[in-house]
Order: sequence, then C-alpha cells, then structure tokens
Amino acid sequence: MLDSLFKPKSVAVIGASTRELHIGNRVIKNLIEFGFKGTIYPINPKADEICGIKAFKSILDCPDGIDVVHMVIPAKLVPQAVEDCGKKGVKNIIINSGGFSEIGPEGEAIEKDFLERAEKYNIRMLGPNCQGIINSDPKCRAYCNFTYTKPDPGHISIVSLSGGVAEVIHQGFSAMGVGTRFYASNGNACDVTIPEIIRYYGNDDETKVVVTYVEGLRDPITFREVAREVAAKKPFLAMKAGRTEEGAKAAASHTGGLAKEDLATDLIFKKAGVLTFNDEGDLINAAAAFASQPVPKGNRVGIITNTGGPAVIATDVLVAAGLTIPPLSEKTKSMLQEKLFKEASVNNPVDVLATGTAEHYRACLDAMMEDDGIDCIYIGFVTPFFVNTESIAKEIAEVNKQKKKPIVCNLMTDKREWTETVKILQEGQVPCYSLPSVAARAMCALVRYRNILDREVGKVKIFEDVNKELAAEIIENARSAEKKILTAEDVYGILEAYGIPVSPWKIAATAEEAIEAAKDMGFPVVIKADSERIVHKSDMGGVAVNITDEDSVKKTTEEMKNKFNVPDLKFFVQKFLPGGLEVIAGAKAEEGLGHLLMFGLGGIYVEIMKDVIFDLTPVTDSEAEEMLSSIKGAPLLDGVRGQKGVNKKILVEIIQRLSQLLNDLPVIKEMDLNPIMAFEKDAFVVDARISL
Ligand code: ADP
Ligand code: MG
Repeated sequence: MLDSLFKPKSVAVIGASTRELHIGNRVIKNLIEFGFKGTIYPINPKADEICGIKAFKSILDCPDGIDVVHMVIPAKLVPQAVEDCGKKGVKNIIINSGGFSEIGPEGEAIEKDFLERAEKYNIRMLGPNCQGIINSDPKCRAYCNFTYTKPDPGHISIVSLSGGVAEVIHQGFSAMGVGTRFYASNGNACDVTIPEIIRYYGNDDETKVVVTYVEGLRDPITFREVAREVAAKKPFLAMKAGRTEEGAKAAASHTGGLAKEDLATDLIFKKAGVLTFNDEGDLINAAAAFASQPVPKGNRVGIITNTGGPAVIATDVLVAAGLTIPPLSEKTKSMLQEKLFKEASVNNPVDVLATGTAEHYRACLDAMMEDDGIDCIYIGFVTPFFVNTESIAKEIAEVNKQKKKPIVCNLMTDKREWTETVKILQEGQVPCYSLPSVAARAMCALVRYRNILDREVGKVKIFEDVNKELAAEIIENARSAEKKILTAEDVYGILEAYGIPVSPWKIAATAEEAIEAAKDMGFPVVIKADSERIVHKSDMGGVAVNITDEDSVKKTTEEMKNKFNVPDLKFFVQKFLPGGLEVIAGAKAEEGLGHLLMFGLGGIYVEIMKDVIFDLTPVTDSEAEEMLSSIKGAPLLDGVRGQKGVNKKILVEIIQRLSQLLNDLPVIKEMDLNPIMAFEKDAFVVDARISL
C-alpha cells in the first residue's frame, strides 16, 4: 500500500532552504501554493522559519511518524539522514538529490547503504534522483515535487521513470484544461517501482485512466503481471521510447534505466491489453479523451461539422485506422432534413454549414445519439463571428453530459478571443483539439481500446501426450557434453517427444546404412550431410532431394563424402515431401521472460521476404491463430489461385506445442524449424536446429 506516500498528512523537507532558487525552497513553496491540507516541517539547522513556516533543526526534533520526508541534501549525507528518519518512524522518503547509482560505483555504494537502513526501519524510498509525487485531490493537495505544473483535480494518473516526460505529459493535460489525479516520477527507482505504482493506480477508484512512460522494462515479469491486472480494470496507456538504437543508448545512459529488446516490451504491452503510443502528443490527447468519455461500442463514427475541409482530413485519418463513417439511417436523415438549413448536407459527415446554429448542432447530436448505426461522434466546430458559438458550445457540453456515446471535438478557434466558448467546452469536459487529424487520432484510440476489450485472449493449451522427461534428458546429456548446438538426432528426438510432426528420418553412417534406411521409409528420399561443422546445408551442397533409387543413394553419399572432408560426417536420410508450402517456426530466449516465438513463411523466403511475426511464450490458442493470420502471406495459407490451402489447425497446434516445449526447456537459446512442410491435410518438420 502506497497510501501514506500518495496521501500524506505530514511532509518534512530535510535540506529546506531559504534561498529562492533552491529545490529545498521550491518543494515547500509548492506545498503551500498547492494548498497542502497536512502539516509541513522545514528542516534546516540554521533557519528559524522558511516560507513563513517554523523550521526544525533536525528531523529528530519533529513529531514521530511523519508520512513523507523529502531529502534535498548531498548524497553522502543521505544514509545518516535515513537512519535518523528510521528512528522517528518516518514512513516514506523522497530523495530529490542525485549522485547515486546513476553516476557509477561510488554513488551505487551510497544507494545500497541507505537502502539497507531504510529496509531495517520499513521506510519506503522513492527515487533517488527523482521529482516526487503529486496528489491533486482537494482532500489532500500534496505537491511533493519540485516542478511547476499545478494540475486541477482529475481522473488521469501518471507515472514515469523520466521526470521530464512526466512533466511534459501533465503539462499537456493542463494546457487542455484536463486534470490529473496522481503523478509520480521515481528516478532511479531503488525501492518503489513503476509496476508497484501502476498497481496502486489500478486499485484507486478515482483513477479512471493510467498513463505511463517507460524506456524498457527493468522487471518485465512483474510488469507483465501488473499490466494484465490493471489493463483489465481501466484504460492503461503507455508510451515506450528508445525505439532506435541511438534512442535506446540515450535511455540506457540516463536514470540508470536499461532498455531491453524492444520487441519483447511491445509484446508484453500487447498481450496485457495496454494501449500503446509512439508519440507523446497522441498519448496525451488520447488520455484526455479517456478521462471524460465512455468507451465506444464499435467503430462507426458520425461526423458533425460546420466546415467541410477539416472533416475530410478527419475522415481520412479515421478510415485509415479502420473506423467507418457509415450512412445515417433514413429516419435520422429525414429528421435532419427538417431541422437543418436546406443547403446543409445530411449525409455522414453532416455539414450544418458555417451559419449552422446551436439548434442545428443539437438536432444532429440528438439524432446521432439515437441512431443505432453510430457508435461515436466527431464534431468539427469552427467559430465564426456570425453565429452564437457559446450557445453551440453549451449544447455540445449538455449532450456530452449524457455520456452515452463518446464525443471528440475539433475546436478551430482563436482561444484568446473565444474564451467563453472554450471555457464552456472545457468545463463541460468535452475533449477539444485544435487540429482535425489530432482529434481524429484521439477517437481512433478510443476505438482501439474497444478492440482490446473485445479481443480474444484465448487459453494456453497444455498437451498431456508429451514426454517432458525424455526431452529434458536429451538436453541434459548435451549440456554435460558441453554441446552448444544439438545433433540432428537430439533435435528430432525432442520434437518427437513433444508430438511435433516430423518427416520420417534415420541417421546412417555408411552408404549401405543409408540404402537400408531409404528402403525402410520408402523412396523417394532426401539425403542431408550431417556434421557439427555444416550449418547451412543447402548453401554448401549438403542437401540432395528426390532420390528415387538405391544407386542414387550410393552416388549421393559418395559425392558428399568427397565434398565434405569432415571426420564426423553422417547421412541424414529423410522422407522426401514435395509440394508443400514451406513455413518457419522459431524461438529466441528472452532473458527472464521466456521465449520470443516466431512464425512466418519459411524456406528460402525467410531471408528475402522476412514475412514473420513474433509473440511471447506462453502462446494461447487465439494468439497462435492470430500469428497465422497476421503474416502478409496469410492468403497463401488459405490457398490462392486454385492452389490448395494448408491445414492451419495443425500449424496452430505446432506453435502451441512449441510454446509448451520452450516453457519446459528454458535453456534452449535459439531454435529454428525451417522449413515445416505444410500440406492440405498435414504438416511435417523437415529441418530443425536447436542451440543452448
Ligand atoms: P538448410 O536449411 O540447412 O539449408 P534444409 O534441410 O532446410 O537445409 O533443406 C533446404 C531445402 O530443401 C528446404 O527448404 C526444402 O525446400 C528442401 N527440403 C529439405 N528437406 C526436404 C524434404 N524432406 N522434403 C522436401 N523438400 C525438402
Ligand atoms: Mg532449413
């Protein structure tokens, strides 16, 4: 529980300063100016009062059990100050000062030192090297932070590793007249973590929207768990930066934050149902809409505007994102024909004309709220001199209060002139945006969230017919022999243990054994050179397909023997399976997370087309199906131009079995099933590689 941190009744500032341009002064001033409802204890050995409040020489002179202590003192003084706080039963400490793990080993040692003391006394630490927290609730009004944006009470709660980004975000809300509820930026995050704060927001009834900014996840497993939990309760919006290599480097070298593999973070967000953004502006604008608007039931947008062009821009953005602008019902149309100007357009978008009045807007709003074919309403509103814009704003605000369907408004005005109109819309909690495409993107985010809520999460299927012990034993033996790459025999043994269908195979040491094997499985066969030193077999001429008789087997083995002068050469004899669609399934270990699992078009296409899709283990049945349908070549799986499609059910099962295998055998570092030959009825792995 972080209640005493986010809802403090008392705040002390160690390092309180009389100097204006000092953080130790600013924190106290912020608390006063924001109207903190609790008690403030400035601590300074020399001053009698700071900002008009009685100062104390030491934390030891203050009453016991203070909720939050700010530390604005040099790093080397922090451990002793924490010790003193411990003796006084302080509950939380926010360390604004820097000079800890973010600067290197010396600072790291100090951080470790104070953390041990904090643990001893059960003190929770925010930071160090951080801004702090803000609670805008009128009952508390805690501005335990040194920045300057003073938020109105609201329903969006923000947490960010980077104080700068957090400030930019709530500055953005402030500029739109949208309030925030909680704000936290935890810098080095030595104790209180971002997932812990997100969970706290998730449990807070007044927080309707959770917003976070991250640069890679420190503890992806916990993050995944918390994200799932919170995203199931309320809109959880996230932005991750550091997408370029340079960006990741910049992220890694500040705040001690370490950027992990981008893909895994994106997949964690996706699997958990987090709404992600690549642009901070889009994040801010969407969050503002979520704060006041209901979630749409579907993707059908009704557009009302008093100017044509901007609505065209909006339409393009909406449609490109998969939303629709359907025709209005006949009933709606005839009603509007009656109420609007004769020249007005009653198709969707409805153009009430620049001279359109409040009554006209109201008629459209009411009609679209009633029309079952419309899920959300986009308003274009330019403010001409010749209409009463305030009365239009009032009608929009009035309808918005119903919270029946979401509304976003592209308000095109001069905010310095039309102050009252702007105010009516802001107070009416109508999310307003100056640009049509920006307003449209906020609407797209609402619909995107609807799709997240409706998505099929599916189940992780556990196959009971697998032989986990056998597979584990194969791996263990390979490990004790210090093998990094498994032999074909081991690989196929593992696949068979997990019920993954493989083309019949046998390993032969001599031409005679190869002939026997070929006769056993039946011609035609494929012969592959099998040696630890031959990795890409076909590149080196180590794959001979469609061998139809004993003589050819003999010839092929002799040729390979001459070509590959390696002592461990064996012949991998395999049933030839022509005419299938070559697909690939693969995996790559993600430290601490499981495996990235890949599916796509296989064989020679992999390198050229790179038509592959990733997910994270464990993969559910719906996720496996989605992998198949999300590759560009998906139509090939269904069959095109008279060609037969492949059995997708079997491929989905192979992905799921692979997911289980990887889950059971985490030491697998990389794995490639390439190709899997897929046919109308079945599918077989014909080449596989596993590395540890
Ligand atoms: P590598 O990937 O090491 O070059 P593969 O075993 O994947 O070797 O073989 C290369 C190609 O040969 C495959 O992509 C496939 O087109 C073909 N091939 C291999 N084995 C078979 C088989 N059993 N049946 C049909 N074609 C095969
Ligand atoms: Mg291959």
